Amino acid sequence: MAKQSYTRRDAARAVEAFMQRLVQRNPGEPEFHQAVRDVAASVAPHILANEELRSARILERMTEPERIVIFRVPWETDDGEVRTNRGWRVQFNGALGAYKGGLRFHPTVNQSVLKFLGFEQTLKNALTGLPMGGAKGGADFDPKGRSDREVMRFCQSFMIELRRHIGEDTDVPAGDIGVGDREIGYLFGMLRRIENRFTGAITGKGEAYSGSPLRAEATGYGCVLFAEMMLTESGDGLRGKRIAISGSGNVALFAAEKATELGATVVTMSDSDGFVHDPDGFDRDKIERVKDLKQRRRGRIEEHAKKHRKATFTRGESPWSAAVECDVALPCATQNELSGAHAKRMIKAGVRAVVEGANMPCEHDAIEAFRAGRVLVGPAKAANAGGVAVSGLERAQNASHTLWDRDTVERRLEEIMRHIHDQCVRDGRGREKHVDYVRGANLAGFKLVAAAMLAQGIV
Ligand code: NDP
Repeated sequence: MAKQSYTRRDAARAVEAFMQRLVQRNPGEPEFHQAVRDVAASVAPHILANEELRSARILERMTEPERIVIFRVPWETDDGEVRTNRGWRVQFNGALGAYKGGLRFHPTVNQSVLKFLGFEQTLKNALTGLPMGGAKGGADFDPKGRSDREVMRFCQSFMIELRRHIGEDTDVPAGDIGVGDREIGYLFGMLRRIENRFTGAITGKGEAYSGSPLRAEATGYGCVLFAEMMLTESGDGLRGKRIAISGSGNVALFAAEKATELGATVVTMSDSDGFVHDPDGFDRDKIERVKDLKQRRRGRIEEHAKKHRKATFTRGESPWSAAVECDVALPCATQNELSGAHAKRMIKAGVRAVVEGANMPCEHDAIEAFRAGRVLVGPAKAANAGGVAVSGLERAQNASHTLWDRDTVERRLEEIMRHIHDQCVRDGRGREKHVDYVRGANLAGFKLVAAAMLAQGIV
Protein backbone atom coordinates (compact mmCIF):
# COMPACT_ATOMS: atom_id res chain seq x y z
CA MET A 1 0.00 0.00 0.00
CA ALA A 2 1.50 3.39 -1.03
CA LYS A 3 2.17 5.82 1.80
CA GLN A 4 -0.18 8.82 1.85
CA SER A 5 1.35 12.20 2.48
CA TYR A 6 0.15 14.06 5.56
CA THR A 7 1.18 17.17 7.46
CA ARG A 8 1.80 17.81 11.16
CA ARG A 9 -1.54 19.59 11.15
CA ASP A 10 -3.29 16.47 9.83
CA ALA A 11 -1.76 14.50 12.69
CA ALA A 12 -2.82 17.09 15.29
CA ARG A 13 -6.37 17.10 13.88
CA ALA A 14 -6.54 13.31 13.89
CA VAL A 15 -5.46 13.26 17.56
CA GLU A 16 -8.11 15.85 18.50
CA ALA A 17 -10.89 13.93 16.71
CA PHE A 18 -9.75 10.67 18.30
CA MET A 19 -9.56 12.21 21.77
CA GLN A 20 -13.02 13.74 21.45
CA ARG A 21 -14.51 10.31 20.84
CA LEU A 22 -12.44 8.74 23.60
CA VAL A 23 -13.52 11.38 26.16
CA GLN A 24 -17.15 10.91 25.15
CA ARG A 25 -16.94 7.15 25.60
CA ASN A 26 -15.02 7.40 28.88
CA PRO A 27 -16.44 10.41 30.74
CA GLY A 28 -15.00 11.50 34.07
CA GLU A 29 -11.69 9.65 33.59
CA PRO A 30 -9.08 12.44 33.35
CA GLU A 31 -6.04 10.28 34.15
CA PHE A 32 -7.01 7.80 31.45
CA HIS A 33 -7.54 10.62 28.92
CA GLN A 34 -4.13 12.08 29.80
CA ALA A 35 -2.28 8.78 29.33
CA VAL A 36 -3.97 8.07 26.00
CA ARG A 37 -3.43 11.60 24.65
CA ASP A 38 0.29 11.33 25.34
CA VAL A 39 0.53 8.12 23.32
CA ALA A 40 -1.88 9.21 20.56
CA ALA A 41 0.21 12.34 19.91
CA SER A 42 3.35 10.23 19.48
CA VAL A 43 1.87 7.54 17.25
CA ALA A 44 -0.54 9.55 15.07
CA PRO A 45 1.98 10.23 12.26
CA HIS A 46 2.88 6.52 12.15
CA ILE A 47 -0.79 5.49 11.98
CA LEU A 48 -1.63 8.10 9.35
CA ALA A 49 1.15 6.73 7.17
CA ASN A 50 -0.03 3.13 7.55
CA GLU A 51 -3.31 2.13 5.93
CA GLU A 52 -3.34 -1.32 7.57
CA LEU A 53 -3.25 0.20 11.07
CA ARG A 54 -5.91 2.75 10.18
CA SER A 55 -8.35 0.29 8.65
CA ALA A 56 -7.87 -2.13 11.57
CA ARG A 57 -8.76 0.75 13.96
CA ILE A 58 -5.84 -0.32 16.10
CA LEU A 59 -5.71 2.69 18.40
CA GLU A 60 -9.48 2.54 19.05
CA ARG A 61 -9.16 -1.14 20.00
CA MET A 62 -5.95 -0.67 21.96
CA THR A 63 -7.55 1.99 24.16
CA GLU A 64 -10.54 -0.19 25.06
CA PRO A 65 -9.75 -2.58 27.95
CA GLU A 66 -10.46 -6.22 27.13
CA ARG A 67 -12.22 -6.65 30.48
CA ILE A 68 -12.88 -4.79 33.76
CA VAL A 69 -13.97 -6.67 36.86
CA ILE A 70 -15.42 -4.66 39.78
CA PHE A 71 -16.20 -6.31 43.09
CA ARG A 72 -17.21 -5.75 46.69
CA VAL A 73 -14.59 -6.30 49.39
CA PRO A 74 -16.21 -6.60 52.83
CA TRP A 75 -13.95 -6.95 55.90
CA GLU A 76 -13.92 -6.46 59.66
CA THR A 77 -11.83 -4.02 61.73
CA ASP A 78 -10.12 -5.04 64.98
CA ASP A 79 -13.06 -3.42 66.81
CA GLY A 80 -15.52 -5.68 65.02
CA GLU A 81 -16.87 -2.98 62.72
CA VAL A 82 -17.83 -4.03 59.20
CA ARG A 83 -16.26 -2.07 56.32
CA THR A 84 -16.83 -2.29 52.57
CA ASN A 85 -14.32 -1.32 49.91
CA ARG A 86 -14.39 -1.62 46.16
CA GLY A 87 -11.95 -3.83 44.24
CA TRP A 88 -11.03 -3.82 40.54
CA ARG A 89 -9.00 -5.74 38.00
CA VAL A 90 -8.57 -4.08 34.61
CA GLN A 91 -7.32 -6.65 32.08
CA PHE A 92 -6.28 -4.20 29.46
CA ASN A 93 -4.57 -6.05 26.64
CA GLY A 94 -3.53 -9.69 26.36
CA ALA A 95 -2.14 -9.67 22.81
CA LEU A 96 1.46 -10.22 23.92
CA GLY A 97 0.92 -12.69 26.76
CA ALA A 98 -0.98 -13.36 29.98
CA TYR A 99 -2.06 -10.11 31.65
CA LYS A 100 0.54 -8.73 34.03
CA GLY A 101 0.47 -5.64 36.26
CA GLY A 102 0.35 -4.51 39.86
CA LEU A 103 -2.32 -4.05 42.51
CA ARG A 104 -2.68 -0.66 44.23
CA PHE A 105 -4.34 -0.13 47.62
CA HIS A 106 -4.89 3.59 48.12
CA PRO A 107 -7.96 5.76 48.83
CA THR A 108 -7.51 7.57 45.48
CA VAL A 109 -7.89 4.37 43.45
CA ASN A 110 -10.74 4.53 40.96
CA GLN A 111 -11.50 3.25 37.48
CA SER A 112 -9.80 6.15 35.71
CA VAL A 113 -6.54 5.63 37.59
CA LEU A 114 -6.56 1.89 36.97
CA LYS A 115 -7.37 2.31 33.27
CA PHE A 116 -4.50 4.76 32.83
CA LEU A 117 -2.18 2.39 34.66
CA GLY A 118 -3.39 -0.66 32.67
CA PHE A 119 -2.94 1.14 29.35
CA GLU A 120 0.57 2.30 30.28
CA GLN A 121 1.39 -1.18 31.54
CA THR A 122 0.48 -2.71 28.17
CA LEU A 123 3.06 -0.61 26.32
CA LYS A 124 5.63 -0.90 29.12
CA ASN A 125 5.42 -4.69 29.17
CA ALA A 126 5.82 -4.77 25.40
CA LEU A 127 9.03 -2.73 25.66
CA THR A 128 10.62 -5.29 28.00
CA GLY A 129 10.57 -7.87 25.20
CA LEU A 130 9.05 -10.45 27.58
CA PRO A 131 5.74 -12.16 26.68
CA MET A 132 3.40 -10.16 28.94
CA GLY A 133 0.04 -8.47 28.36
CA GLY A 134 -0.98 -5.42 30.41
CA ALA A 135 -3.31 -5.13 33.44
CA LYS A 136 -3.73 -3.24 36.69
CA GLY A 137 -5.95 -3.60 39.71
CA GLY A 138 -6.46 -2.68 43.32
CA ALA A 139 -8.89 -1.20 45.79
CA ASP A 140 -9.81 2.11 47.41
CA PHE A 141 -8.57 0.67 50.69
CA ASP A 142 -5.99 2.56 52.77
CA PRO A 143 -3.58 0.22 54.59
CA LYS A 144 -2.07 3.23 56.39
CA GLY A 145 -2.86 3.17 60.11
CA ARG A 146 -4.37 -0.33 59.90
CA SER A 147 -3.05 -3.19 62.03
CA ASP A 148 -1.38 -6.18 60.38
CA ARG A 149 -4.44 -8.28 61.18
CA GLU A 150 -6.79 -5.76 59.56
CA VAL A 151 -4.61 -5.66 56.45
CA MET A 152 -4.58 -9.47 56.43
CA ARG A 153 -8.36 -9.71 56.64
CA PHE A 154 -8.73 -7.17 53.85
CA CYS A 155 -6.23 -9.01 51.60
CA GLN A 156 -7.96 -12.32 52.23
CA SER A 157 -11.38 -10.93 51.36
CA PHE A 158 -9.94 -9.24 48.24
CA MET A 159 -8.36 -12.51 47.09
CA ILE A 160 -11.52 -14.57 47.60
CA GLU A 161 -12.95 -12.71 44.60
CA LEU A 162 -9.80 -11.85 42.62
CA ARG A 163 -8.69 -15.48 42.38
CA ARG A 164 -11.56 -16.24 39.95
CA HIS A 165 -9.91 -13.95 37.42
CA ILE A 166 -6.19 -14.69 37.76
CA GLY A 167 -3.82 -17.63 37.20
CA GLU A 168 -0.28 -18.26 36.03
CA ASP A 169 -1.37 -18.39 32.37
CA THR A 170 -4.26 -15.90 32.65
CA ASP A 171 -3.33 -12.88 34.72
CA VAL A 172 -0.42 -12.46 37.13
CA PRO A 173 -0.76 -9.53 39.58
CA ALA A 174 2.08 -7.97 41.61
CA GLY A 175 2.50 -5.05 44.04
CA ASP A 176 2.22 -1.29 43.59
CA ILE A 177 1.45 1.64 45.93
CA GLY A 178 0.19 0.25 49.25
CA VAL A 179 0.87 -3.34 48.22
CA GLY A 180 4.32 -4.34 49.47
CA ASP A 181 5.86 -7.51 50.92
CA ARG A 182 3.29 -7.82 53.70
CA GLU A 183 0.25 -7.51 51.43
CA ILE A 184 1.71 -9.81 48.73
CA GLY A 185 2.34 -12.43 51.42
CA TYR A 186 -1.26 -12.32 52.67
CA LEU A 187 -2.69 -12.31 49.13
CA PHE A 188 -0.54 -15.25 48.06
CA GLY A 189 -1.27 -17.20 51.23
CA MET A 190 -5.02 -16.98 50.64
CA LEU A 191 -4.71 -17.83 46.94
CA ARG A 192 -2.61 -20.92 47.73
CA ARG A 193 -5.09 -22.03 50.36
CA ILE A 194 -8.18 -21.69 48.16
CA GLU A 195 -6.57 -23.23 45.09
CA ASN A 196 -4.56 -25.86 46.95
CA ARG A 197 -1.80 -25.18 44.42
CA PHE A 198 1.55 -23.42 44.75
CA THR A 199 1.79 -21.43 41.51
CA GLY A 200 3.46 -18.32 40.14
CA ALA A 201 0.10 -16.54 39.83
CA ILE A 202 1.39 -13.61 41.90
CA THR A 203 4.85 -12.04 41.65
CA GLY A 204 6.74 -9.89 44.12
CA LYS A 205 6.73 -12.83 46.53
CA GLY A 206 9.32 -13.00 49.29
CA GLU A 207 12.50 -14.89 48.53
CA ALA A 208 11.54 -17.23 51.39
CA TYR A 209 8.65 -18.57 49.31
CA SER A 210 9.77 -18.64 45.64
CA GLY A 211 10.10 -14.92 44.94
CA SER A 212 12.90 -13.74 42.70
CA PRO A 213 16.08 -12.16 44.00
CA LEU A 214 16.14 -8.42 43.22
CA ARG A 215 12.37 -8.00 42.66
CA ALA A 216 12.10 -5.41 45.44
CA GLU A 217 15.06 -3.44 44.09
CA ALA A 218 14.23 -3.82 40.39
CA THR A 219 12.09 -0.75 39.67
CA GLY A 220 14.36 1.73 41.45
CA TYR A 221 17.58 0.13 40.20
CA GLY A 222 16.21 -0.11 36.66
CA CYS A 223 15.15 3.54 36.72
CA VAL A 224 18.62 4.71 37.70
CA LEU A 225 20.29 2.41 35.15
CA PHE A 226 18.00 3.95 32.54
CA ALA A 227 18.96 7.47 33.70
CA GLU A 228 22.63 6.52 33.42
CA MET A 229 22.08 5.20 29.87
CA MET A 230 20.24 8.39 28.86
CA LEU A 231 23.00 10.62 30.19
CA THR A 232 25.72 8.46 28.65
CA GLU A 233 23.93 8.64 25.30
CA SER A 234 24.21 12.43 25.48
CA GLY A 235 27.89 12.26 26.45
CA ASP A 236 27.60 12.51 30.23
CA GLY A 237 26.91 10.24 33.25
CA LEU A 238 25.44 10.19 36.75
CA ARG A 239 28.75 10.33 38.67
CA GLY A 240 29.01 13.55 40.65
CA LYS A 241 25.44 14.65 39.88
CA ARG A 242 22.94 15.94 42.44
CA ILE A 243 19.75 13.88 42.35
CA ALA A 244 16.37 14.94 43.75
CA ILE A 245 14.00 12.05 44.52
CA SER A 246 10.35 12.23 45.58
CA GLY A 247 8.72 9.45 47.59
CA SER A 248 10.32 7.12 50.13
CA GLY A 249 8.57 3.92 49.14
CA ASN A 250 9.77 0.88 47.26
CA VAL A 251 10.79 2.69 44.07
CA ALA A 252 12.31 5.77 45.71
CA LEU A 253 14.41 3.86 48.24
CA PHE A 254 16.10 1.57 45.74
CA ALA A 255 16.53 4.39 43.22
CA ALA A 256 18.38 6.28 45.97
CA GLU A 257 20.51 3.22 46.71
CA LYS A 258 21.55 2.68 43.08
CA ALA A 259 22.15 6.39 42.40
CA THR A 260 24.48 6.56 45.40
CA GLU A 261 26.26 3.40 44.27
CA LEU A 262 26.88 5.02 40.86
CA GLY A 263 28.53 8.03 42.49
CA ALA A 264 25.66 10.54 42.53
CA THR A 265 24.45 12.50 45.58
CA VAL A 266 20.79 12.12 46.54
CA VAL A 267 19.64 15.36 48.19
CA THR A 268 15.88 14.85 48.73
CA MET A 269 13.30 12.22 49.68
CA SER A 270 9.63 12.76 50.54
CA ASP A 271 6.33 11.25 51.59
CA SER A 272 2.75 12.49 51.50
CA ASP A 273 3.46 14.86 54.45
CA GLY A 274 6.30 16.80 52.82
CA PHE A 275 9.95 16.51 51.81
CA VAL A 276 13.36 16.35 53.42
CA HIS A 277 16.30 18.23 51.92
CA ASP A 278 19.65 16.87 53.05
CA PRO A 279 22.43 18.88 51.39
CA ASP A 280 25.10 16.41 52.59
CA GLY A 281 23.30 13.69 50.66
CA PHE A 282 21.64 10.44 51.69
CA ASP A 283 24.58 8.05 51.87
CA ARG A 284 24.16 4.27 52.19
CA ASP A 285 23.73 4.39 55.97
CA LYS A 286 21.10 7.09 55.83
CA ILE A 287 19.19 5.24 53.11
CA GLU A 288 19.23 2.07 55.25
CA ARG A 289 17.79 4.11 58.13
CA VAL A 290 15.05 5.58 55.89
CA LYS A 291 14.24 2.04 54.74
CA ASP A 292 13.88 0.94 58.34
CA LEU A 293 11.82 4.02 59.18
CA LYS A 294 9.39 3.74 56.24
CA GLN A 295 9.21 0.01 55.58
CA ARG A 296 9.61 -1.64 58.96
CA ARG A 297 8.44 1.02 61.41
CA ARG A 298 5.93 2.59 58.97
CA GLY A 299 7.00 6.05 60.17
CA ARG A 300 7.08 9.49 58.56
CA ILE A 301 9.99 10.99 56.57
CA GLU A 302 10.01 14.04 58.85
CA GLU A 303 11.86 11.93 61.43
CA HIS A 304 14.95 11.88 59.22
CA ALA A 305 15.28 15.67 59.45
CA LYS A 306 15.04 15.52 63.25
CA LYS A 307 18.07 13.23 63.36
CA HIS A 308 20.40 15.03 60.93
CA ARG A 309 21.51 18.54 61.74
CA LYS A 310 21.73 19.94 58.22
CA ALA A 311 18.60 18.22 56.90
CA THR A 312 15.36 20.25 56.75
CA PHE A 313 11.76 19.09 56.48
CA THR A 314 9.19 21.18 54.57
CA ARG A 315 5.60 20.22 55.26
CA GLY A 316 3.06 20.22 52.43
CA GLU A 317 5.68 20.70 49.71
CA SER A 318 7.58 18.40 47.36
CA PRO A 319 11.09 18.70 45.90
CA TRP A 320 9.34 19.91 42.72
CA SER A 321 7.10 22.60 44.22
CA ALA A 322 10.18 23.90 46.07
CA ALA A 323 12.34 23.61 42.90
CA VAL A 324 15.26 22.17 44.86
CA GLU A 325 18.51 22.60 42.90
CA CYS A 326 19.49 19.35 41.19
CA ASP A 327 20.94 17.97 37.95
CA VAL A 328 18.60 14.99 37.70
CA ALA A 329 15.05 14.65 39.06
CA LEU A 330 13.56 11.23 39.80
CA PRO A 331 9.85 11.59 40.63
CA CYS A 332 9.10 8.27 42.38
CA ALA A 333 5.93 8.95 44.42
CA THR A 334 2.69 9.08 42.42
CA GLN A 335 0.87 10.35 39.31
CA ASN A 336 0.67 14.07 38.47
CA GLU A 337 2.98 15.14 41.28
CA LEU A 338 5.00 17.47 39.01
CA SER A 339 3.11 20.31 37.25
CA GLY A 340 3.99 22.61 34.35
CA ALA A 341 4.69 25.45 36.81
CA HIS A 342 7.02 23.21 38.82
CA ALA A 343 8.81 22.20 35.61
CA LYS A 344 9.49 25.82 34.61
CA ARG A 345 11.01 26.60 37.99
CA MET A 346 13.08 23.40 37.92
CA ILE A 347 14.49 24.33 34.50
CA LYS A 348 15.53 27.72 35.90
CA ALA A 349 17.14 25.92 38.84
CA GLY A 350 19.26 23.91 36.38
CA VAL A 351 17.67 20.46 36.04
CA ARG A 352 19.05 18.55 33.02
CA ALA A 353 17.16 15.28 33.07
CA VAL A 354 13.88 14.03 34.54
CA VAL A 355 13.45 10.28 34.75
CA GLU A 356 10.07 8.95 35.87
CA GLY A 357 10.25 6.26 38.58
CA ALA A 358 6.53 6.62 39.35
CA ASN A 359 3.81 6.13 36.75
CA MET A 360 2.87 9.40 34.96
CA PRO A 361 4.31 11.64 37.71
CA CYS A 362 4.66 14.57 35.27
CA GLU A 363 1.56 16.40 34.10
CA HIS A 364 1.24 16.93 30.35
CA ASP A 365 2.29 20.61 30.68
CA ALA A 366 5.39 19.59 32.60
CA ILE A 367 6.49 17.22 29.84
CA GLU A 368 5.92 19.96 27.26
CA ALA A 369 7.91 22.47 29.33
CA PHE A 370 10.82 20.04 29.74
CA ARG A 371 10.80 19.22 26.03
CA ALA A 372 10.78 22.92 25.12
CA GLY A 373 13.63 23.51 27.58
CA ARG A 374 15.65 20.65 26.05
CA VAL A 375 15.58 18.76 29.35
CA LEU A 376 15.86 15.00 28.77
CA VAL A 377 12.70 13.16 29.87
CA GLY A 378 12.77 9.42 30.58
CA PRO A 379 9.09 8.35 30.50
CA ALA A 380 7.73 5.90 33.06
CA LYS A 381 6.80 3.18 30.60
CA ALA A 382 10.49 2.86 29.75
CA ALA A 383 12.28 4.03 32.89
CA ASN A 384 10.32 2.10 35.51
CA ALA A 385 9.88 -1.11 33.52
CA GLY A 386 12.57 -2.86 35.57
CA GLY A 387 10.01 -3.93 38.17
CA VAL A 388 7.69 -5.71 35.80
CA ALA A 389 10.70 -7.10 33.94
CA VAL A 390 11.94 -8.88 37.07
CA SER A 391 8.34 -9.93 37.79
CA GLY A 392 8.43 -11.53 34.34
CA LEU A 393 11.67 -13.27 35.33
CA GLU A 394 10.06 -14.43 38.58
CA ARG A 395 7.26 -15.94 36.53
CA ALA A 396 9.78 -17.75 34.34
CA GLN A 397 11.60 -19.12 37.42
CA ASN A 398 8.34 -20.29 39.01
CA ALA A 399 7.18 -21.95 35.77
CA SER A 400 10.42 -23.91 35.55
CA HIS A 401 10.50 -24.65 39.31
CA THR A 402 13.94 -23.09 39.73
CA LEU A 403 15.44 -20.02 41.37
CA TRP A 404 18.21 -17.99 39.79
CA ASP A 405 20.96 -16.28 41.75
CA ARG A 406 21.06 -12.53 42.28
CA ASP A 407 23.84 -11.93 39.74
CA THR A 408 21.90 -13.70 36.99
CA VAL A 409 18.80 -11.60 37.66
CA GLU A 410 20.82 -8.39 37.86
CA ARG A 411 22.50 -9.14 34.54
CA ARG A 412 19.11 -9.86 32.91
CA LEU A 413 17.69 -6.62 34.37
CA GLU A 414 20.54 -4.60 32.87
CA GLU A 415 20.11 -6.30 29.49
CA ILE A 416 16.38 -5.56 29.49
CA MET A 417 16.89 -1.89 30.46
CA ARG A 418 19.48 -1.60 27.67
CA HIS A 419 17.03 -3.18 25.21
CA ILE A 420 14.30 -0.69 26.23
CA HIS A 421 16.72 2.22 26.02
CA ASP A 422 17.88 1.27 22.54
CA GLN A 423 14.32 0.92 21.23
CA CYS A 424 13.56 4.44 22.58
CA VAL A 425 16.63 5.82 20.83
CA ARG A 426 15.72 4.08 17.57
CA ASP A 427 12.18 5.50 17.48
CA GLY A 428 12.83 8.76 19.31
CA ARG A 429 15.86 10.24 17.58
CA GLY A 430 14.94 13.34 15.62
CA ARG A 431 16.75 14.98 12.75
CA GLU A 432 19.26 16.43 15.19
CA LYS A 433 21.10 14.20 17.65
CA HIS A 434 18.57 14.88 20.44
CA VAL A 435 16.54 11.84 21.52
CA ASP A 436 12.84 12.33 22.39
CA TYR A 437 12.47 9.38 24.78
CA VAL A 438 8.75 10.07 25.27
CA ARG A 439 7.99 9.66 21.59
CA GLY A 440 10.48 6.81 21.28
CA ALA A 441 8.91 4.76 24.09
CA ASN A 442 5.35 5.41 22.94
CA LEU A 443 6.06 4.51 19.34
CA ALA A 444 8.22 1.46 20.03
CA GLY A 445 5.69 0.03 22.52
CA PHE A 446 2.76 0.77 20.25
CA LYS A 447 4.37 -0.95 17.25
CA LEU A 448 4.94 -4.15 19.23
CA VAL A 449 1.39 -4.37 20.57
CA ALA A 450 -0.12 -3.34 17.23
CA ALA A 451 1.80 -6.06 15.35
CA ALA A 452 0.51 -8.74 17.73
CA MET A 453 -3.06 -7.41 17.50
CA LEU A 454 -2.97 -7.31 13.70
CA ALA A 455 -1.69 -10.87 13.54
CA GLN A 456 -4.51 -12.12 15.79
CA GLY A 457 -7.34 -10.62 13.73
CA ILE A 458 -10.34 -8.72 15.02
CA VAL A 459 -10.65 -10.07 18.56
P1 NDP B 1 4.99 2.79 47.85
O1 NDP B 1 3.63 2.66 48.39
O2 NDP B 1 6.06 1.87 48.29
O3 NDP B 1 5.53 4.29 48.07
C1 NDP B 1 4.87 5.40 47.58
C2 NDP B 1 5.58 6.65 48.07
O4 NDP B 1 4.99 7.80 47.47
C3 NDP B 1 5.46 6.86 49.57
O5 NDP B 1 6.59 7.54 50.02
C4 NDP B 1 4.21 7.71 49.69
O6 NDP B 1 4.16 8.50 50.87
C5 NDP B 1 4.36 8.59 48.46
N1 NDP B 1 3.05 9.03 47.97
C6 NDP B 1 2.01 8.24 47.61
N2 NDP B 1 0.96 9.00 47.23
C7 NDP B 1 1.36 10.28 47.38
C8 NDP B 1 0.74 11.52 47.14
N3 NDP B 1 -0.51 11.59 46.70
N4 NDP B 1 1.46 12.65 47.39
C9 NDP B 1 2.73 12.59 47.85
N5 NDP B 1 3.37 11.43 48.09
C10 NDP B 1 2.70 10.30 47.84
O7 NDP B 1 4.81 2.71 46.25
P2 NDP B 1 5.87 2.34 45.15
O8 NDP B 1 7.19 2.93 45.50
O9 NDP B 1 5.76 0.90 44.85
O10 NDP B 1 5.28 3.10 43.87
C11 NDP B 1 5.56 4.47 43.60
C12 NDP B 1 5.23 4.77 42.14
O11 NDP B 1 6.00 3.90 41.29
C13 NDP B 1 3.77 4.56 41.74
O12 NDP B 1 3.45 5.48 40.73
C14 NDP B 1 3.79 3.16 41.15
O13 NDP B 1 2.73 2.94 40.25
C15 NDP B 1 5.13 3.19 40.43
N6 NDP B 1 5.69 1.89 40.12
C16 NDP B 1 5.97 0.99 41.12
C17 NDP B 1 6.53 -0.23 40.81
C18 NDP B 1 6.98 -1.17 41.86
O14 NDP B 1 7.69 -2.13 41.51
N7 NDP B 1 6.67 -0.97 43.13
C19 NDP B 1 6.75 -0.64 39.40
C20 NDP B 1 6.51 0.43 38.44
C21 NDP B 1 5.95 1.60 38.82
P3 NDP B 1 3.45 7.91 52.22
O15 NDP B 1 4.49 7.04 52.86
O16 NDP B 1 3.10 9.12 52.99
O17 NDP B 1 2.25 7.13 51.76
